[in-house]
Amino acid sequence: PFSYVPPGRNHLFVPGPVNIHERVLRAMHVPGQNHRDPWFAELYKACLEDTKHMYGTKTATPFIFPGTGTGGWEAALCNTLSPGDKVICFRYGLFSHLWIDMMQRLGLDVTVVDRPWGEGADEAALEDILRKDTGKKIKAVCVVHNETTTGVTSDIAGCRKAMDAAGHPALLLVDGVSSIGALEFKMDEWRVDVAVTGSQKALSLPTGLAFVAASPKALEAMKSAKLKRVYYDFADMLRTNPSGNVPYTPCLSLLYGLRESVKMWKEEGGMEAVAARHHRLAEGVRQAVDGWGLKLLCKNPRWRSDSLTVVEVPEGIDSNKIVKNAYAKYDLSLGIGLASINGKVFRIGHLGNMNELMLAGALVGAEMAMIDSGINIKPGSGVARATEYWHKTSSIIKTRE
Ligand code: PLP
Repeated sequence: PFSYVPPGRNHLFVPGPVNIHERVLRAMHVPGQNHRDPWFAELYKACLEDTKHMYGTKTATPFIFPGTGTGGWEAALCNTLSPGDKVICFRYGLFSHLWIDMMQRLGLDVTVVDRPWGEGADEAALEDILRKDTGKKIKAVCVVHNETTTGVTSDIAGCRKAMDAAGHPALLLVDGVSSIGALEFKMDEWRVDVAVTGSQKALSLPTGLAFVAASPKALEAMKSAKLKRVYYDFADMLRTNPSGNVPYTPCLSLLYGLRESVKMWKEEGGMEAVAARHHRLAEGVRQAVDGWGLKLLCKNPRWRSDSLTVVEVPEGIDSNKIVKNAYAKYDLSLGIGLASINGKVFRIGHLGNMNELMLAGALVGAEMAMIDSGINIKPGSGVARATEYWHKTSSIIKTRE
């Protein structure tokens, strides 16, 4: 029955929604308030400013919509493009597939560049396509930075370089849903035109906010963009946000949570420190996978994601059983394999509010669930490798010296 909650903690290791820190939970515990009272403007302006750090931007305009990452996708497309516009998008997992589906349903003319699942955006192919577009008909290049289906992080700086090499003026629209706030993201340096994320990922908040940032070039494109937009219209935000107002009712508790979450992110040392933690955590998990004698779906180290790890299971084993056993026996939530790789892989999410010992718990649970599911794994074989790595690379928490 749904009403029974076992003792101890649920171990949440899907790549979003993620674990919410107690500080953030407390910050969100507020009574109903009127956002038309004067105090709201200060809170909202501070929230908008906060998000700029995560994108790595000083020049882009941030927006916060009540919604999810999918809403952010729609905002990015509708505010910058017109029906029939040519766009390019790489497809290498379920999320890039769904974004392409949205582009098609919105009436855009999408060139889909299919890549094997487990690989990332091919910069050379991008440059080639853009070079051949001598009439500069392509209006946008769309890239999913971290494909949450496969545990692959594409190189956005590399895509920008390819666009520059081809001398192409297309907009660069980036899905940063499972990267922004966890991995390095340099919106200004990479000249990303629209970046998108959602609150339940690296920011470690409940689901319900779509974060979008638009470059000056994207806002210029907005002036002639003809796709229909209503709820996600930047123009309504641009009219109200500068004075700290919003066009419709904001998710107040999430905004309080956002302030606390970004405060923690800054206390840790900002993007560089947070990205380094994610790398260390991810490397420990990759060591564990090697210790189990298993393989990552992402074979090429250049694309390995630090947000999540996608593990291939041996032939003849159903990875859904592992996920089922982990939840049923150990109260551990792992991510299933999505779409065409369902049954063949499972996913360990390690983004956002996370540390070694939490992750060690997930590795122990994954080991037991894999043994339960018929994989020949020596208990402790993965955990030993992860702990060895984490121990070697550990440092004292800065307030504990
Ligand atoms: N893009 C990526 C890379 C994702 O991982 C997800 C969700 O997991 C989405 C987009 C869709 O976001 P949402 O479920 O918040 O609408």
